[in-house]
This record gives sequence, C-alpha cells and structure tokens, in this order.
Amino acid sequence: ALRAALAQHLAPRAPGRHPATRKVYTAEEVHAAIEAGQLVNWYQPKVDVKTGEVVGVEALVRWQHPTDGLVFPDQFVPVAENGGFVHELTRVVARAAVIQARVWLDAGLKLRVAINVSMDDLSTLTLADHMIAETSAEGVPPQHIQIEITESRLMRSVTSVLDQLIRLRLKRFRLSIDDFGQGHSSLAQLRDLPFDELKIDRSFTHNAAHDGRLRAIFEASLNLGRMLGMDVVAEGVEDRDDWDLLAEKGVTIAQGYFIGRPMPADALQSWLREWEARLWQ
Ligand code: C2E
Ligand code: CA
Ligand code: CA
Ligand code: CA
Repeated sequence: ALRAALAQHLAPRAPGRHPATRKVYTAEEVHAAIEAGQLVNWYQPKVDVKTGEVVGVEALVRWQHPTDGLVFPDQFVPVAENGGFVHELTRVVARAAVIQARVWLDAGLKLRVAINVSMDDLSTLTLADHMIAETSAEGVPPQHIQIEITESRLMRSVTSVLDQLIRLRLKRFRLSIDDFGQGHSSLAQLRDLPFDELKIDRSFTHNAAHDGRLRAIFEASLNLGRMLGMDVVAEGVEDRDDWDLLAEKGVTIAQGYFIGRPMPADALQSWLREWEARLWQ
C-alpha cells in the first residue's frame, strides 16, 4: 500500500516561491518583522519509512513580507543571528509551534512538532526555561516537541550548551542533531550530547542510490545513529530512488519533497487526509 501511495503521490506545491531577486535585509527590518508578527511557520511532514505513518512535522519559518512576498529563512535567520536577536525569532517560532501542536492534539493528530534553534539560543541559557513555560501553558507534553540543532554550530561552546540540552532532555523534550555530516566534530558531539534523533544531511541523501561515495557516507551515518540507539532521519528525499534506498537500508524516518513540501498548517491538514487515504486504499 505504501508503494502505491507513493507512486500516486504528488507533493502539493504550496503557494509562494523564492523571489526572483534576493534582497538583503537589515537587522532593523528583520527585527521589525518579528515584532509585527510577519513570521509564520510552515510545516514539512516526517514519515515512518516502514509504515508510511506521518510521525511528525518540522516547523520552517517564513517571512510574509508585505511587499516582497514570501521570504525564506536563509535570507533573514542569519540577519537575526548576527544582530544578536535570534532568541526573539526563536520565541515566535516556538510559541506558534507549541500552539499548533496543541491544535493537532485536540484534533486527534499525534504529530511531533520539531523546531530549529540557533546556537545563540542555547548559549544564552533561556531556551529550556522558555520551552518549559510554553509547553506547560498549552498543556502540550514535551515529548511532542523536538528541538533540531545544527551540529556545525554546536562546536563553539559545548559546556554551557550541554547544560541547556540536559535540562531539556530531563523534561523529555526530544533532541535532534540536524545536518549530520556537515559539521567538523560530529563524532565528539555524539559522544557528549544527549540526542534522540540524527538527521542525515540532505547532501548525502539525494542521489546516494547512484553515487557510491555518497552512499558510503550515508550508510556510515545511518549505522552510527542506529548503534547509538537514535532515530535516523534522512532529509532531502527527492525521488523514488532516494526513497527505495532508505527502505532498503532501514532508515527510520524520511523527509523531503518526494513525500511533502513545507506548507502552511491548514494545507498540512488536508495533505494528511490525502496521504492517509492513499495509504489505506
Ligand atoms: P534545515 O533545518 O536543514 O531545513 C531543511 C531545509 O531543506 C528547508 O529549507 C526545507 O524546505 C528544505 N527541504 C526539505 N525537503 C527538501 C528536499 O527534498 N530537497 C531540497 N533541496 N530541500 C528540501 P528552508 O525552509 O528554506 O530552511 C532553510 C534553513 O533555515 C533550515 O535548514 C534551518 O537551518 C533554517 N531555519 C528554518 N526555520 C528556522 C527557524 O525557525 N529558526 C532557525 N534558527 N533556523 C531556521
Ligand atoms: Ca532542521
Ligand atoms: Ca537539516
Ligand atoms: Ca540545513
């Protein structure tokens, strides 16, 4: 049924695309956008490779710019990081994600919601407090919330970060190491930090079926995650060959355009209905 579902499946093209010209935004503009409530989370499904079940979603922030249209995170998240106010962005994203998790729980959907955080969020020592406050305010069990951390950024100050991560972990938030393989000290991070999930970077997933070097890195990452008892997610699953490789190698969770693109929360709900209908037919 899963193969049939995928064969029929066409990921809906969510509205909005990269603007033709890449504008450079100032810290003032980005800060004003956060305060004006112009940031919105889109959500991309994460699917169990064996059963096809949608196990969660990743929140990916977009800026609904009043005149420039939809702006993608690579154009403003680094601006907020360099401007020293990315924690404000993270708060907006986290709050919206927790509220959305509550909405889905109320609708009977057990979707784990992942958010992306920056290194600065972990070194300013407020993320754990903030996440605990948000989830208890909404009555969302922390194990429904996943925190994705890009490992290349982890290198800088592991000790203060460790404290935050352990606090989050003790409260049963799920911790995910993002873009695995792209950083420089991945193995040391895995040794020292308490992650539940390893996300193989998409540069090692797409085309791994056709490229032996990619496949070697892909499989080594997969085995490493597995031996450490982590869920292994392959991101950037773009076509059928990518998917078949994951299934063959025993990857737990898949994410990518082949399954579903990031989309607004209401679009995700109808996407889920279609996905499930195809799965059961
Ligand atoms: P990421 O966390 O690695 O997120 C995955 C990115 O890959 C997303 O880009 C997603 O749209 C894209 N993607 C998903 N499936 C596929 C696929 O099959 N093929 C290809 N080529 N790409 C795919 P997006 O949404 O533009 O986000 C880019 C990056 O911005 C994210 O990378 C993350 O590092 C950062 N980001 C996004 N939202 C937030 C946020 O709320 N806070 C922070 N601090 N960073 C964020
Ligand atoms: Ca991520
Ligand atoms: Ca990633
Ligand atoms: Ca990335």
